[in-house]
Amino acid sequence: MKQKELLIKTTKENPKDEKSINAQLLIRAGFIDKLGAGIYSYLPLGLRVLENIKKIVREEMNNIDGQEVMMPSLLPKENWEKTGRWNVPEMYKLENNKFGLGWTHEEIVTPLVQKYTSSSKDFPKYIYQIQSKFRNEPRAKSGLLRGRDFIMKDLYSFHNNSEDLDNYYEKVKDAYFKIYERCEIKDKTYFTLASGGEFSSAFSHEFQTITNAGEDIIYVCKKCGASFNKEIFNKECICGSKDFDEKKSIEVGNIFKLDDKYSSVFNFKNEESKNILMGCYGLGITRVMGAIVEVFHDERGIIWPKEISPFKVHLISINADAEEIYNNLQKEGIEVLYDNRDKSAGEKLYECDLIGCYLRIIVSEKTLEKLSVEVKKRKEEKTQLVEIKNLIEFIKNEL
Ligand code: ATP
Ligand code: MG
Repeated sequence: MKQKELLIKTTKENPKDEKSINAQLLIRAGFIDKLGAGIYSYLPLGLRVLENIKKIVREEMNNIDGQEVMMPSLLPKENWEKTGRWNVPEMYKLENNKFGLGWTHEEIVTPLVQKYTSSSKDFPKYIYQIQSKFRNEPRAKSGLLRGRDFIMKDLYSFHNNSEDLDNYYEKVKDAYFKIYERCEIKDKTYFTLASGGEFSSAFSHEFQTITNAGEDIIYVCKKCGASFNKEIFNKECICGSKDFDEKKSIEVGNIFKLDDKYSSVFNFKNEESKNILMGCYGLGITRVMGAIVEVFHDERGIIWPKEISPFKVHLISINADAEEIYNNLQKEGIEVLYDNRDKSAGEKLYECDLIGCYLRIIVSEKTLEKLSVEVKKRKEEKTQLVEIKNLIEFIKNEL
């Protein structure tokens, strides 16, 4: 992609109405556009990032036998009245009061799977979607961390017995950590015990990523590493220790066992007349994008992890022609953003750091004299000259 054709306008000033680092940087660098509090458009660069995160989540969900579906966002009132969740504050209700916008999907997925199963042999089933959710969040001030219109991956599992549910719960936990590992936030993400909330079992588990922008407080045991959300914390760890670190964090995922909370409402049983047991597993796709920016940035801009980077390579020509290099990279299937605009080197490098692609490649008169280009990773200061004839191989090794 040539940068001059991209729908983008970067700015030096922070937007006045955004306090969070993720929103400031993502807007300044041209990834998102604000329409209102907690409502954003994803511009081409931003959408590429989102698609990269979705791809990782899909692959890891498919690895644990998840089947992808897509349920509607416009949801009939009857379903919610059955479970008593029509009048929750999160729900955006439409004028005619017959529909609400989907903020979660237990009320839809439970009767859906019930309709397409008939015997205990049909279980387990694992159904997920990646879809827009709508929530009337009163405090939508944290950029992508708390949207009113945001994207979530929600997985629901259906089981004949609790042993099967327990086993799958562990599998999902592992899959979530693989996702966070590929997003490079695993080291900062804690598996945290939390309350189950009004509509689920007594406890849930949250994946909490440490960041100052977080709205949660967790306590991490200094002795055994176990972690607890402040809302259930009782000052003593399961290992007996009372020594904790207090940390600010953001919930990037959440898993809990619903058991028969929803199946009982919808009268969803197997042929032995036992209620089907359910688990539900949420992961905030857009929130993960925001969290990555909170974790990976410096005073110059965003520093995208390799798998998330909107383009793997940002190729910049400075008083030189890099057209042939650009074409060769494209031919090799390397994702490259090419900046051959008629702008000063300073301006181009400034924008390059702000956008934060994984690799920067500069082609200038000086490098061409040595039949080379200059390569630098956004996360490192070190630059190196690579001969053009070895460039493709060099990049492929780096990616
Ligand atoms: P929070 O306590 O932060 O409001 P929640 O408990 O309401 O989160 P869930 O209903 O379990 O969240 O949703 C599953 C996942 O969706 C969360 O773990 C989070 O990653 C994401 N999520 C929830 N609310 C939002 C939001 N308003 N904007 C972006 N992502 C969200
Ligand atoms: Mg919430």
